[in-house]
Amino acid sequence: MVASGDKLRLSNKDSFYVAQGVWGLKTILVNLYFIEDKDGSWVLVDTGMYGHAHKIIQMAEEIFGENTRPKAIILTHGHFDHVGSLKVLAEEWDVPVYAHSLELPYLTGQSSYPPPDPTVGRGAVAYMSFMYPKKPINIKNRIELLPPDGSVPGLPGWSWIHTPGHTHGHVSFYRDEDKTLLAGDAFITRHGESAVAVMTQKREVHGPPAYYTSDWVAAHHSVEKLANLSPETAATGHGLPMYGNELQTQLDTLVKDFWLKAVPTRGRYVNEPSVADEQGVVSVPDSSFPKILAVAGALTVAGLAVIALNKRNTSNKSHPKGTQRPFSHNRVATGIPPTIDPDHDDPTEHSNNYP
Ligand SMILES: [Zn+2]
Ligand SMILES: [Zn+2]
Repeated sequence: MVASGDKLRLSNKDSFYVAQGVWGLKTILVNLYFIEDKDGSWVLVDTGMYGHAHKIIQMAEEIFGENTRPKAIILTHGHFDHVGSLKVLAEEWDVPVYAHSLELPYLTGQSSYPPPDPTVGRGAVAYMSFMYPKKPINIKNRIELLPPDGSVPGLPGWSWIHTPGHTHGHVSFYRDEDKTLLAGDAFITRHGESAVAVMTQKREVHGPPAYYTSDWVAAHHSVEKLANLSPETAATGHGLPMYGNELQTQLDTLVKDFWLKAVPTRGRYVNEPSVADEQGVVSVPDSSFPKILAVAGALTVAGLAVIALNKRNTSNKSHPKGTQRPFSHNRVATGIPPTIDPDHDDPTEHSNNYP
């Protein structure tokens, strides 16, 4: 047990201190957080990349003692890099998992996330794509909703704040007492997609990871909401914690210059957001990439037709019309599937929206 909840020496080189009773652990590219309550119990926020359960348990035992387990696991959002070790940890500790209602479809196999936009955000995120899982997770038997009153289960003194944009059900966590903020991916504290930034760990406020952000207007409002709290400490999903004046100044700049600095100049979700409800994705804007291919394809067809006509000018067939592309990422199912089998994951039942 940690008496003062402070700067104890942790053996994992990827661990870091955030604030009183709050520690972070980096799993390759993404952070997760241990938060201690005043009574010595604790909660885990996010679970990092796949395959890190052992390290997470080890660090928890170093901080809180042997055979410790949290009161709950709480999620900022359900992107694969934040829920990678979730299934193993929830089983091992036998604890509930809390998330926002708009995040539930992606944690119960009901819907896939809006597809990432590969035309924005090259770099480390793209390089690592070979590691990305192919299927959404299903933890239907453990998932619970965050209380509507804004309280955080197991953490009196903390509140959750809906910060949509990066995902529709994205939340941040805030402790008013010392103005400590866990912002998930609402904004991050390193350049999200740069391999150099990942290596050097330079601390700098940036907008949400562009590759996966599907509503930029909402994302801007969310950053503004968080900046208005004037946090003393901010720990995010990617990058090291930032503090005080440096944090506030950079957050204010991000709010002011959001469309210049954070939003890509062009991309699938820049002019139109994805739309989702509590059953999952309702609609996504068309991808510009297939459109370019479609135009190229049409030109080729037209070119071939001209050649054909030149050879034999007797054709009376009209060109095949370009077929209307249906939404390929509409929700996969309405209503909750009747069988509860968390280990059942039939890849034919949902589309793979990960790169
Ligand atoms: Zn994310
Ligand atoms: Zn992330």
